[in-house]
Amino acid sequence: MTFRSPRLSVEAYERGVIDGDRGMLARAVTLVESRSEEDRQLAHNLLQRVLPMTGRSHRIGITGVPGVGKSTFIDTLGMRLLEAGHRVAVLAIDPTSQLSGGSILGDKTRMHRLALDPRAFIRPSPSGLSPGGVARRTRETMLLCEAAKYDVVLVETVGVGQGETAVADMVDFFLVLVLPGAGDELQGIKKGVFELADTLVVNKADGEGERLANIALTDLKAALRYLPRKRAIWQPRALAASGITGRGIDELWAVIEEHRRLLEANGELTALRAAQQSTWMWALIRERLEDVFRQHPDVSSTLPRIERAVEAGTTTSSAAADELLAIFGRKYL
Ligand code: GDP
Repeated sequence: MTFRSPRLSVEAYERGVIDGDRGMLARAVTLVESRSEEDRQLAHNLLQRVLPMTGRSHRIGITGVPGVGKSTFIDTLGMRLLEAGHRVAVLAIDPTSQLSGGSILGDKTRMHRLALDPRAFIRPSPSGLSPGGVARRTRETMLLCEAAKYDVVLVETVGVGQGETAVADMVDFFLVLVLPGAGDELQGIKKGVFELADTLVVNKADGEGERLANIALTDLKAALRYLPRKRAIWQPRALAASGITGRGIDELWAVIEEHRRLLEANGELTALRAAQQSTWMWALIRERLEDVFRQHPDVSSTLPRIERAVEAGTTTSSAAADELLAIFGRKYL
């Protein structure tokens, strides 16, 4: 049996979050993560109430393959920011946790110094959810952190091909960490992850890795010129860094601030967030509609047969979609 604190009133959650009380923030996040309908309603009310206090943070996404050094990097960056007077929240998403059965990000000690610092808030996303479910909870958790006056929210995701787009869609600035000399530069370009990047960091640029990192950096800078720009006003940057020595960390923060100033000066930050909110609304509608569709009794009883036929190639995807929609539509359309 898992221990669960009793549910509080919406006012109590609101007060706790706005006061920046870490324990209350953690409880509010648990509420947002809950699958119970009653909790969902309470979470909705809470989010609605704190909404005016949200939106003021630097929302930063960080991705890279396992082992690239994300947790070490975030630990160093986070500590630097705390020392500069920022309040830092780290939300870690691990889409592989479902597959492996155990979350590799679940362990808070991955960020040794930050995890012990009372000024920071670290929260791994719950395992066992679909990427859509994880994204919804992370997004709402980010809003709660902002209401709790965290002015830097770092959203970490494991770069295994899913989840990056969802994170890129909820942040202002997206950072991709790569390893020197591992061929990651090119893999990343193929997967389209680089196209989401506002800045690329060749990590582990220290000791023996330094020479390779400098070569990789030159290659990346050249490659960036050929990539389509995500935003007309921003040319993505590449830099070398080390989470261990701290090389490149200040330079990166300067780039993030420059990006922020530029987007604000052009009204792009407001436009970006407005577009993200709208994209988000449609993602939620699609998710809910798909649920309703799948749960329709006639659809759910026919679906396995039709899916098999599509996979076997005995019916086309479009004929199958038409058939299922017709079954669904008998009642709704
Ligand atoms: P993550 O899986 O991306 O979160 O990577 P970790 O931060 O856990 O690091 C993976 C391994 O790389 C660990 O053994 C770290 O000690 C090492 N590592 C992390 N950052 C650096 C760095 O900047 N330089 C070097 N040389 N090693 C690093």
